[in-house]
Amino acid sequence: MISTQSGDDEKSAESQKLFECVTRGAFLDGIMSPLSRELAERFNVLTTDIDMTFAWACTSMDWICPACLRGKRDIARLTEKGKLMCRLVEHHDHMADLVEAEFERQCKAHSKIVADEFGKRFAKRASQMVAAYDNTIICDDCNTADPKAKRDVGTHMDFSYSPQEISQFVKARPNVPHEIDREQAKRIWLEQAETFKLRLVIVARIASIAATNNHWYQEVPRFQRAEQIYANAENLARHYGSLASLYELAGDKRRPPVDASAWRKTIHQPPRRAPQSEDLDYIAKVSSATSWSKVEQTWQCPCCRRTKFHSVRLSNKNKWVFNIFTPSFYGPTERYGTKNVVVCQDCSSLATAIGREACLALGITNESAYAKFLKPEELAMVVLSHPHRQHNVDNDRADELVMLLIERINQLSPPKSVGVD
Ligand SMILES: [Zn+2]
Ligand SMILES: [Zn+2]
Ligand SMILES: [Zn+2]
Repeated sequence: MISTQSGDDEKSAESQKLFECVTRGAFLDGIMSPLSRELAERFNVLTTDIDMTFAWACTSMDWICPACLRGKRDIARLTEKGKLMCRLVEHHDHMADLVEAEFERQCKAHSKIVADEFGKRFAKRASQMVAAYDNTIICDDCNTADPKAKRDVGTHMDFSYSPQEISQFVKARPNVPHEIDREQAKRIWLEQAETFKLRLVIVARIASIAATNNHWYQEVPRFQRAEQIYANAENLARHYGSLASLYELAGDKRRPPVDASAWRKTIHQPPRRAPQSEDLDYIAKVSSATSWSKVEQTWQCPCCRRTKFHSVRLSNKNKWVFNIFTPSFYGPTERYGTKNVVVCQDCSSLATAIGREACLALGITNESAYAKFLKPEELAMVVLSHPHRQHNVDNDRADELVMLLIERINQLSPPKSVGVD
């Protein structure tokens, strides 16, 4: 592409703008950043003698290496040639490359190659599965510690240590390369050796499926892929000046309903079966582990009085779920006028729905924390709870509560007079 003179000028003006941001101190870094100037002075080098990687520039000045936990000030160091190393690099699990190599080897091992380019792409997609971790930015010293530890310990040559594992065997000190705790590195390899063998078997299997053209990958052209279509639209919207408005093009999905109380006229039915012990076990250990472990076994929702077990219900996708939330409720005697209370998922959404209904009646549509207008006790008065089911609502009491809330919201933030000069 031939760029015009004015195009180049525009570009360099844009670069100048970015450089100035970084010079003043931005969420990016660069040879002109305050940190770089500080380091250059401390190590007595010119900024032109800084050996900086792209990843260093892409991270903030207070970035910390996930493997050795050093900050940039402690990572930078002088080389023998007098260069100041400011190097962060991408650490990858080379198992993914191994799939490709093994695919090529197996293809060539056939008397006639039966695989095609799609087989190769299948192998590439499947290779994600045998990688132990996603590509991670770590410091150069940590990245170098990986092959060094592998040699010292004598691991399989295709094995590589993950950032978490590197952090267990490097002995990090400021501004010098790492020493390695060989015993730790060895222990980790021995723990991983068995799984690693399994991964090698999977690599060989994937490669063989691809090399014999027995794979199932059917490529869809890029421009037809959902991800690509959304990305294009976002770029266009950004180009036209507003990314956020893109999501309003199809109409405002959050426009207030005609009847603000319609949401509580639906009657929820209890499920036909209760969750079984294996369902609970799966919730506690896999699907809702964080929420489940957040409260004691004896916990009861303070609003609806349901136990943990009874708060488990079917989601819209027909999966058993358990969630707890900590909304800020109305707490007039509390320090900030709100009180955080741990409640079940259904009490939380009920609090939001009632608070929103009262706000809508007042024409308030931009509130983000609707629970803060009601007390947990008030919520408890309108809840019709049942095990393993969303709450139904006592509509007469809810009518009264909404009226009370409207009054309260008005007192908290009296409506501004409109149209008066
Ligand atoms: Zn590091
Ligand atoms: Zn690498
Ligand atoms: Zn509850």
